[in-house]
Amino acid sequence: MARQRHGRREFFGLSGAAVAGAVTAPWIGAQPVAAAAVDADADLVVFNAKVYTVDARLPRAEAFAVKAGRFVAVGTTADIKGLIGKNTQQFDARQMTVVPGFTDCHNHAGGDTLLYEVLVGNPFEVEFVTINSIIDKLRVKARQTPPGTWVEGFFFDDTKVKDQRELNRKDLDEVSLEHPVVVRHRGGHTSYYNSKALEMAGVNKSTPNPAGGTFDRDATGELSGRVTDRARNVFNRIGSRVTFNPQQIEQRERDGLAHISKQFVRYGLTTVHHEGGDLAALQQVRARGDLHHRVSYESSGKVLDGMIAAGIMTGFGDDWIRLGATSEHTVDGSFSERTMALSQPYPGIQPAYKGNITETQDDLNAWIEKVHRAGIQVNCHANGDVAIDMFLTAVERAQRLFPRQNARPKITHCTLITEDLVRRIKALDAIPAMFTTYAYYNSDKFVFYGEDLMKRSMAYRTFLDAGVHAAAGSDFSPGPFAPLMGMQGMVTRRGWDGKTWGANQRITVDEALIVNTMNGAYASFEENVKGSITAGKLADFVVLADDPHTVDPEKIKDIQIVRTVVGGTAAYQA
Ligand SMILES: [Zn+2]
Repeated sequence: MARQRHGRREFFGLSGAAVAGAVTAPWIGAQPVAAAAVDADADLVVFNAKVYTVDARLPRAEAFAVKAGRFVAVGTTADIKGLIGKNTQQFDARQMTVVPGFTDCHNHAGGDTLLYEVLVGNPFEVEFVTINSIIDKLRVKARQTPPGTWVEGFFFDDTKVKDQRELNRKDLDEVSLEHPVVVRHRGGHTSYYNSKALEMAGVNKSTPNPAGGTFDRDATGELSGRVTDRARNVFNRIGSRVTFNPQQIEQRERDGLAHISKQFVRYGLTTVHHEGGDLAALQQVRARGDLHHRVSYESSGKVLDGMIAAGIMTGFGDDWIRLGATSEHTVDGSFSERTMALSQPYPGIQPAYKGNITETQDDLNAWIEKVHRAGIQVNCHANGDVAIDMFLTAVERAQRLFPRQNARPKITHCTLITEDLVRRIKALDAIPAMFTTYAYYNSDKFVFYGEDLMKRSMAYRTFLDAGVHAAAGSDFSPGPFAPLMGMQGMVTRRGWDGKTWGANQRITVDEALIVNTMNGAYASFEENVKGSITAGKLADFVVLADDPHTVDPEKIKDIQIVRTVVGGTAAYQA
């Protein structure tokens, strides 16, 4: 017994030294972690595992111990078993794989849509639907909806339609001629309207396209019903919407967040960067015990203005809800919906089309300067090379006017790059949060860009080679958020349809792990508390039934998540 005690003390002595060497953040003292551990048994010991730590100093391990929500020791099964006391929960991983919890750096965590709205596509997986199924679902909704009130469908994906044609105005006229009807593309930048909606908005075939958007026409010059980006603004002013009182709205927000939190941990996510959402509801959900994942909250609107007014900077909060970057400030259109701003015309489109810029350089400069000066991490949505250039120009300007070390400006999507853009991104230590599941899920859309552009798109290989902290941003709802689906696409660049695009951008399984864990932590300035299985860090990890390093790469997405653990507590168990 005494011997064992001695051994344990020695072991913690070692891990304490490792902690001291590793962390610089003031809130993790190396001494308290080690000292507390010596005095008491571990809360949890995981052993007999294939642990990929994503910590270069000890990349592989067999076991680890958790105390008070943090990893306290990582090593061999023999070493760590010495830390088991009578109150220690033991988990024999039976040679299963354990990796750090996954981080999604860009997610519109709108659980209320999943719970309450009409879903005309599958949010989580590749699934083809028929146009008739869409019409049927919306007809049911129309029957329960007073005339003149919007009937809306969500999660449409134009390339996951069995009919193999565009959804159009006439399809939606079959839903109703008395209700304005809209089907929203899951990408968030295009929508499809029926004739009633177009008529109520005063849009006809001779209406000119506004700046930053289009009213699309069919081959005969008639409105097709598809409307892109800013042209959709005219529909905000028309039609009635089902209204809810403030209590109902809050209840829907809370239930939606609780619902999506369960989905996140089911797929192995332990940290998600939320694009806005109701901050009060988020705190209430946490208080009632229904928040299973950690949140980096990305603010906009009133919350962002409030932060600036009150002097609240990025990093404020705690390990469960922390204020991160701003939410994405949009500079251009969409990759999946083919409206992103390119420096060259889209291949094969007449008349020549280069996508939509949705912000002027002057407005962007002013917004970035304001946020940057306030000590808040800027974050812009920039897909095309033109938009990324605009973003970098604005950040470089802000840094000249008000130099700030370690600002880590975030580029949401950062899809199409050039050598010069990569150089400037590296110089600013900007963080590209690139699409993850798209390589698998959206391979059917890459033909619109062609192989030349795809070689420079979602450029994980190029960024990692350049030493850029490339991170994962699913952009749910536009993309499914499953991290393993994302990893598979990063490793294979092959889609559900068997087509491979931009194979030059493939990365290894180990690199994909770094992207989905450590680089995600870096993106929110949390690399000292998250992102790897390291003594002193938060005990967030995932147990996988198979090892992504050894399974057929085409099957990484099918690996079962056995358990997701957040802060040492199982948040999900298969
Ligand atoms: Zn987004």
